[in-house]
Amino acid sequence: MPNQDNFHAQTPQQFLQFLQQNQIKRFSLIYQKETDTVVVSDPRLQSLADFINTDERDFMQHEGLLFQVSEKHEVLFGAFIHKTHRGQASGGLRYWHYASMEDFLRDGMRLSKGMTRKNALANLWWGGGKGIMVHNPKNDKNDPQIREEIYKDYGRFITSIKGCYITAEDVGTCEEDMANIFTQTRFTTCIPAHVGGSGNPSSATALGVVHGMEAALSFLQLGDLQGKTIAIQGMGHVAEPMMGYLFERKVAKIIAVDIHQELIDTVKQKYSNYSLEARLVDIKDQSILFEECDILAPCATGAILNSETIPQIKAEIVCGASNNQLKHSKKDGQALAERGITYVPDFLVNRMGIVNCADEQSGYIDNDPYFYRHLDQDYHHSVYQTALRVLQQSKESQSPPADVATELADELALENNPIYGHRGEKIIASLNNQKWHLGQ
Ligand code: NAD
Repeated sequence: MPNQDNFHAQTPQQFLQFLQQNQIKRFSLIYQKETDTVVVSDPRLQSLADFINTDERDFMQHEGLLFQVSEKHEVLFGAFIHKTHRGQASGGLRYWHYASMEDFLRDGMRLSKGMTRKNALANLWWGGGKGIMVHNPKNDKNDPQIREEIYKDYGRFITSIKGCYITAEDVGTCEEDMANIFTQTRFTTCIPAHVGGSGNPSSATALGVVHGMEAALSFLQLGDLQGKTIAIQGMGHVAEPMMGYLFERKVAKIIAVDIHQELIDTVKQKYSNYSLEARLVDIKDQSILFEECDILAPCATGAILNSETIPQIKAEIVCGASNNQLKHSKKDGQALAERGITYVPDFLVNRMGIVNCADEQSGYIDNDPYFYRHLDQDYHHSVYQTALRVLQQSKESQSPPADVATELADELALENNPIYGHRGEKIIASLNNQKWHLGQ
């Protein structure tokens, strides 16, 4: 029988075993303002609440963390709801594997907090949240039948939490998965165009990152992208269209790496008329971060800017799509600044994916002005203007750009939605009152 005192140290499979043995299908960890603590719905899971209540890094008063075991296939579902002052918590759904419950909980909390900041800084009337489905190794991820059942089940889970979290596409999840979720809930975005949605957001994300690069170059009085060399880690959904936007702007060269040869071959084929140097690397190979280049664009995974990598970076600017690039946001942001490297915060420049689906539920318009203003250099909240403002404030205050952007975003995140006020908090409270965890 797994130990009840240290759930966070267990593997998700061990934890699932405990839930099944004790017939626990749902549980919640809900923040109580009065006591500034998280309260767990089932006393047998108290050690998880203790773990979160003593955490000083990732928790940051999430309004609610809601979990369910899938009806089939033994998959642990999570909805991480950070702040809902600006609107319903919005953020993508990740289907991923985790070595421990701690890794799972930290990833969810870190990502949802990042979404709060991203949405607030983009001036969207959304709160911040994240969905996670923990991959169970017993399931074949590529079996379409299993996938369909798991995603539909996640859709029912989202319906049950009554709109405090609106899901979207993220790493490990594709458009078809979103379509399966949509058959079970209306609390989703990023659904395919054939059912009235905005589809895959990656190309929009790529364009936003390119605007961030342009703002940094302009701020440093280094001209535009023409003639520059860009190093990109990852050649996936965002990096591939990003290369197109960069070549359109006449960059001199792109150096890129990925861990999948097939993908490299496809992308190389697509840009065969351009100066693209692409190579296969091992997952642990970080050499791309140390290339001679003007701009380094991390577009693979997070935490790659850390005490080991920062001293070796040669780029003048770091601006990429990956979430949570700084391993330790304060310390590593400071280390980059001390090396004279201009870091354009990830959650500032990679917003266009969420912008792309932000107004999806209010109807779809060609050339939507609510989308394009984020790419308008004159709009106060555009990627370009916000990046310039953050870099300028950073220079004046001698505080790293990530700290400046975080402070600005945290302030905006507490503004209440002009129509609905802080409604998400009320939804979570009503789920709690109705004993949501006993349902299903
Ligand atoms: P993706 O999975 O399509 O692409 C990532 C690529 O990186 C993959 O091809 C993978 O093989 C490669 N990779 C993984 N580890 C690597 C390593 N160590 N070295 C080299 N390559 C490696 O994901 P994506 O949608 O392109 O997103 C990229 C990043 O941007 C992710 O961190 C994601 O969270 C973030 N992001 C994406 C969006 C979006 O709209 N897709 C929006 C915001 C943020």
